[in-house]
Amino acid sequence: MYNIALIKGDGIGPEISESAIKILETINDKLDLKFSIKPLDAGDSAFEKTGKTLPDETFETIKKSDACLKAPVGESAADVIVFLRRALDLFANIRPAKSYPNTKALRDDIDLVIVRENTEDLYVGKEFEINNSAIAIRIISEKASKRIAKYACQIAIQRGVQKKVTCVHKSNVMRKTDGLFSRACAEVAKDYADITFDQMYVDACAMNLIRQPESFDVIVTTNLFGDILSDEAAQVIGGLGMAPSANIGDNFALFEPVHGAAFDIAGKQIANPTSFILSIKMMLEWLGAKHDDKKCFEIANKIENTVYDVITKGIKTKDIGGEKTTSEFTNEIIQRLI
Ligand code: ATP
Repeated sequence: MYNIALIKGDGIGPEISESAIKILETINDKLDLKFSIKPLDAGDSAFEKTGKTLPDETFETIKKSDACLKAPVGESAADVIVFLRRALDLFANIRPAKSYPNTKALRDDIDLVIVRENTEDLYVGKEFEINNSAIAIRIISEKASKRIAKYACQIAIQRGVQKKVTCVHKSNVMRKTDGLFSRACAEVAKDYADITFDQMYVDACAMNLIRQPESFDVIVTTNLFGDILSDEAAQVIGGLGMAPSANIGDNFALFEPVHGAAFDIAGKQIANPTSFILSIKMMLEWLGAKHDDKKCFEIANKIENTVYDVITKGIKTKDIGGEKTTSEFTNEIIQRLI
């Protein structure tokens, strides 16, 4: 039995959370992998109810769980997710971008993953004002850079696709911070003889993600660049509705869609829950590896194959050219899972 903390979030969060809960309940009831799901409040809606964006009870329940699923939160995202990533030392943000047939992907052979350092960079929130100027501190440490580089190399080997790691930075301008990041990654890559290691400036990477997205395998980069490039990569494979992610630490992990709360489409039942459904798949793979549980891997595969089948058949939500509502699409997945 796995205890799963589930943050319902804001905007489209509650709608896609309902899909996630239905899918976990189906797995629990029909596929013989047991979950206890604890729905939790965090974000703008929690602030309205309790005066806190991350209520103590939510944080305590997350810490006691086996893994956390998090739907997007609204304006208070930094108080929730940036806090959780740092407080739980979830140092690796893994953001795969894979094209599925019959979507708005630029090509059908894109299969890359962005490995974003999750605890440093401008996201440490050290900003201040002096004499009508605003200053932000960017922290890049050798320890965190080597840790994320190692993780990226391990993922490249595990995936076995191109066994290539591209280190993305802007060391020609940010010579100290990105200079360190680039050197640290290159040094770590030397320990992985099977890996092709290359480096690219972030502007060139942004262009190449559109010009030749199929050429990328694993991209390792700093926090802010990773955030921006992964939204771009999501669009390249058909939109944010298709993009899951994982925040991974040594002992705990949190899984969430790449996208935000998308208030423009909230409450309309048109949100694509695939981003959250594929986040469940990533969670099962992580639980499977941590607990040496083959059943988790089996069901993770089943989820991915089902999403692939359903979308290939043209059963899709509006964002990727279909007509299904959030719950209709979820039901199509559920019917084929059992
Ligand atoms: P943030 O700044 O928190 O990343 P944002 O409002 O800038 O959030 P998102 O909420 O990430 O941006 O989404 C951008 C747009 O992409 C939304 O306005 C919405 O139209 C579309 N979108 C995002 N997620 C989904 C989804 N799951 N299904 C359908 N469309 C989506």
